Amino acid sequence: MSIPKISLNSGHSIPQLGFGVFLVPADEAEKAVTEALEVGYRHIDTAAIYQNEEGVGAAIAKSGIPREELFITTKLWNDHQAEELPHEAIRTSLDKLGLEYVDLYLTHWPTPERQTFVNAWTKLIEIRDAGLSRSIGVSNHLPEHLDALVAATGEVPAINQIELHPAYQQRNVLEWAAANGTRVESWGPLGQGKYPLFENPAVAAAAEAHGVTPAQAVIRWHLQKGIIVFPKSTRKERMAENFDVFGFTLTDAEIAAIDGIDPLDGSGRVGTHPLEFN
Ligand code: NAD
Repeated sequence: MSIPKISLNSGHSIPQLGFGVFLVPADEAEKAVTEALEVGYRHIDTAAIYQNEEGVGAAIAKSGIPREELFITTKLWNDHQAEELPHEAIRTSLDKLGLEYVDLYLTHWPTPERQTFVNAWTKLIEIRDAGLSRSIGVSNHLPEHLDALVAATGEVPAINQIELHPAYQQRNVLEWAAANGTRVESWGPLGQGKYPLFENPAVAAAAEAHGVTPAQAVIRWHLQKGIIVFPKSTRKERMAENFDVFGFTLTDAEIAAIDGIDPLDGSGRVGTHPLEFN
């Protein structure tokens, strides 16, 4: 299975479909990532705060897959944004992952009360320039945060990873990205199982029409919108199901119907709002 790649403003490219490991316990991460690599995933999304980078690294090392065939993302946690702490944080993450570089390093949250996210971005630029991350970006940043980064440095994040699924589409953040050449990654792409997406009539109808599962229909919706997506499951059969999304295409009408799920008042959000996370 050949996964489409998306070009980034760094000159590198990212597999559009990957595997996320949020809430995968440290002692299960090696097995989960090993199975994901067996299924065919080559893009893994972890973070320092997930406390499973060692397990991810162990699976990578044992897989024997050439480093250049993998795309590994990790993230800078909020308490390491200030001063020179990001440099310490990336070294720690690389040690745990057993890697010389990551493909993508993200500031995890803007944490506006700390007022350190712009400093963090200046350090990520240094980290990229030192060769420790091929591309750099951010997560959970709103247009006001993104504007502040660009104003301070002139550097546009390659990626903004945000909560995004049919019930919470963050159109203003997508518009900023499209206007500035940032690519968007969806976290919680299936609504984290907290929003009843799979029972929604628009999702169910699209799934039935194509003989696929509701999860596959939702993943396909992300892909056809040009968004990068990495659903999480620790069950190998679901990893395979979530990977098997290239044999059908949603119609424009099906996409429009799924677009209509968003209540547009923000009530479809299942995670924390970026302005409230410090
Ligand atoms: P998700 O939307 O991928 O939901 C995961 C849950 O969906 C699983 O626990 C499982 O119960 C269910 N599921 C998965 N596949 C299924 C299937 N085929 N059928 C039925 N149910 C299925 O949520 P997520 O894990 O939070 O998001 C994906 C990734 O995004 C994470 O693993 C992590 O890498 C990243 N993430 C980033 C942030 C951030 O702040 N940057 C926050 C949360 C998650």
